Amino acid sequence: MFSRKDRPTWRDRYPNEVTCVRCLETREQAYLDRLLWCDRCRARARNRAAWWGWVGGLLFGACVAIYVWTVIRPTDLVIGGWIGTLIAAVWIGSKVARELIYGVMRFRNAHAVEASPPDAPDGPGAPGPPEATGS
Ligand SMILES: [Zn+2]
Repeated sequence: MFSRKDRPTWRDRYPNEVTCVRCLETREQAYLDRLLWCDRCRARARNRAAWWGWVGGLLFGACVAIYVWTVIRPTDLVIGGWIGTLIAAVWIGSKVARELIYGVMRFRNAHAVEASPPDAPDGPGAPGPPEATGS
């Protein structure tokens, strides 16, 4: 057993070049974290979590809206305040959902989900990672 003082860090256990478990590309160790995700895979997972986080935030906002409109029944005088509340609910909900989704992705630590086959056909219907298209 190692004492706490001279315990090697997790990086010492790996060589300089490490294969990322997500995309199966060999990267320099400095680009990988302790789950062996490279920086690109972390960024992609973050992007995906952010996108789904907005979906979760909108769903949460819709629930709040239903609650406000059916249970609280706001009057027209304070409608602006309720709209602000809904926007805040969507925003906070998206942040919470994003962190949850990213945490789940990290926890499940699915292997090779970002890996692309070496000779993937480029034809229509070719399976590929769902990329958000910037409009
Ligand atoms: Zn990777």
